[in-house]
Amino acid sequence: MSKNPLNPLDLYKHLPQTNCGRCLLPSCLAFAAGIVAGNKKLQECPFISIELQEQLAEGLQPRSKLEPNQAQFIDRLEEKIRTIDFAQVAPVLGATCRDSQLVISSMGKDFYIDQQGQLRSECHIIPWVKAPLLSYVTNTTHQGITGDWITFRELKGGIDWQGLFTSRCERPLQQLADEHPELLGDIIDLFMGRKTEAFDADIALTLHPLPHFPILICYQAPEEDLESKLTIFFDACCGVNLHIKSIYTLCAGLIQMFDKISKLHI
Ligand code: SF4
Repeated sequence: MSKNPLNPLDLYKHLPQTNCGRCLLPSCLAFAAGIVAGNKKLQECPFISIELQEQLAEGLQPRSKLEPNQAQFIDRLEEKIRTIDFAQVAPVLGATCRDSQLVISSMGKDFYIDQQGQLRSECHIIPWVKAPLLSYVTNTTHQGITGDWITFRELKGGIDWQGLFTSRCERPLQQLADEHPELLGDIIDLFMGRKTEAFDADIALTLHPLPHFPILICYQAPEEDLESKLTIFFDACCGVNLHIKSIYTLCAGLIQMFDKISKLHI
């Protein structure tokens, strides 16, 4: 798939071009335009295979509507934060309450949230962290760690986001691990990761991007004619503790950060 974003005509070439209307639009071209505008999802056409969905998702920009909405989304989260009793929720979230602030650990680094929803940290604040962190705190349901690992697709709402998750998270991390064999070891050292032997992988490591949000990265290195394989698993509690959009945002941000770290070795 080309690195340039797909336009409606490019996308149309991959559609059945039968204008059957099953996507509730009058034509395949209208469907292609709807996809590029972010108003339709690829899976609304029943004739696009999962493989093709994943390929096409690589050529699509994240929905253009998401960016402007992000600021409003954070505003809403900050409003909710003002109504939360930190002392009461801290133990439920695996956090602590200190000087009227909520202290949450993300991969070994402490983040402090004040009652206005403002974030500060002992390290540089990365913009993509804020929305998932505030979402985690304001989520109305919460579950402790279960020890059951599931795939992204098995998370609630995961099927809808699978294409983007594969193209923006799993595949780029697989390529990074192929090109920089030391990277996964560095991630363990830098982010309080833990190696685990319990999986059939060359490297299996767990990370805690949030206290009750463990992820497991399993990497199989390439061998002769066999391509490498990388899968990110989630504890079953992750889908309860964070909305799927925030899970995607968190993972995509992590991969961008790992990409920057890998460049330090060049
Ligand atoms: S459902 Fe698929 S094939 Fe039918 S009109 Fe929509 S895009 Fe075209």
